[in-house]
Amino acid sequence: MTPEQQERLRSIPSVADLLNAEAVQRWLEHASRPAVVRALRDAVESVRTRILAGHGDEPFDANTVLLTAEDLLWERLVPPVRRVINATGVVLHTGLGRAPLCEAAIEAISDAAAGYCTLEYDLDSGSRGSRTRKLAELICEVTGAEAATVVNNNAAATLLILNTFARDREVIVSRGQLVEIGGSYRLPSIMTAGGAILREVGTTNRTHLRDYEDAINDRTAMLLRVHTSNFRVTGFVHTTPLEEIVKLAHRVGLLAVDDLGSGALFDLAALGLPGEPYVAESLAAGADLVCFSGDKLLGGPQAGIILGRRELIEGIEANALARCCRVDKLTLLALEATLRHYDDPAEARHAIPTLAMLDLDTDALADRARALCERFQHAVPAEHFFVCSDASYAGGGSLPGRELPTVVVQWRPGRRSVDAVLTALRHTEIPVIARIRDEGICLDPRTIQEDEHDDLVAAVASAAFADDGEATLRVLPPS
Ligand SMILES: *Cc1c(COP(=O)(O)O)cnc(C)c1O
Repeated sequence: MTPEQQERLRSIPSVADLLNAEAVQRWLEHASRPAVVRALRDAVESVRTRILAGHGDEPFDANTVLLTAEDLLWERLVPPVRRVINATGVVLHTGLGRAPLCEAAIEAISDAAAGYCTLEYDLDSGSRGSRTRKLAELICEVTGAEAATVVNNNAAATLLILNTFARDREVIVSRGQLVEIGGSYRLPSIMTAGGAILREVGTTNRTHLRDYEDAINDRTAMLLRVHTSNFRVTGFVHTTPLEEIVKLAHRVGLLAVDDLGSGALFDLAALGLPGEPYVAESLAAGADLVCFSGDKLLGGPQAGIILGRRELIEGIEANALARCCRVDKLTLLALEATLRHYDDPAEARHAIPTLAMLDLDTDALADRARALCERFQHAVPAEHFFVCSDASYAGGGSLPGRELPTVVVQWRPGRRSVDAVLTALRHTEIPVIARIRDEGICLDPRTIQEDEHDDLVAAVASAAFADDGEATLRVLPPS
């Protein structure tokens, strides 16, 4: 160790001294004393390590140690999942939690969460009841299905269907429908996990009925149609319609299953979004089982819904794996409250946030964009904001490639790079997730809730003034 290093080590303030710093007193209003002490101790240790490793002559006064300690404390206090403002215009953004819940769902959850509820209790008989029976009845009412069940998500729904009806047997799927849905969901892997044998037929762009027909043999259990929910193949394309797959399956005594993915409960052509398959269509085509997600176009919590013939649904519920995929009380309550809005599709369109956001027309979006633009300009007069047309997306594996016309605020940062501002926006008190177009940052009012406008203006102002180099103590914590 050099004499300089020794000198520098000696000048590191002690944890006891640091505890008296004014900033630390403020931290103690938000964090426990042991947590603050631990952060200070770790910060002192890390500065010591840097000095011993011979790292330059960087200053390491009390403020350096405090900044390090604050970063550590911040990391520990920040919840792993935080609220953000979605300014991307992607309505069902899987990374940002897909569908925001409707008010009725939030109320139902908070009513039940703090106390006990009749999750599996029958008030009439005073004995054990069914967890999903009432919800299943509501689903049948809303969709017209004969029977229904609910599981944790659509991946679980697919797994259960395959495991119940196609274990050690073949499932015929078009090569054009072997989807991967972001991250870990890949149909062939789910097939393997469920114990079914994938029999792919046709080609990437064209699969004909005779391809299915030729592949049928005595080990075949089902024909599976999968909605290609997050991509679109155009050009020389042929997809076998579900009705034809169903007819063929039934002619030879096999099951026809439709993995619908996004699960629109009515024809979204009514929202100016034609072409997205919907549940009643699949049932009308005669599919024996239909499955889809609760948190995509349905606009509810994460869940997987399976519809179909009663004896098939009973078979699924009798599978031991069903117990491993069951929904909790919060999901159940949120889903039920969301589904109640579908009694009246007109009500669903404005009460369910996902549908309401898809439903916004360019006039309404332009009004919001202009109002936001004015507020940004007022908050940060030195920066350049303007309103322009752009495209939003449904996202979350629905309406692939379909652009929804929107009107956004574009911000062309004058002092800093677009990337630096985008990063700064992700690190404001309520993080803002936005996207880049041309040389600017696009903020799409379609996915920005109206009660988030104040927070958004504050975030934009803070990102505009944030300086890249100089670190300052933050105000703890993010709430
Ligand atoms: C989204 C999707 C899934 C997976 O659903 P999760 O609810 O995310 O588990 C499966 N199949 C298709 C076709 C999908 O679009």
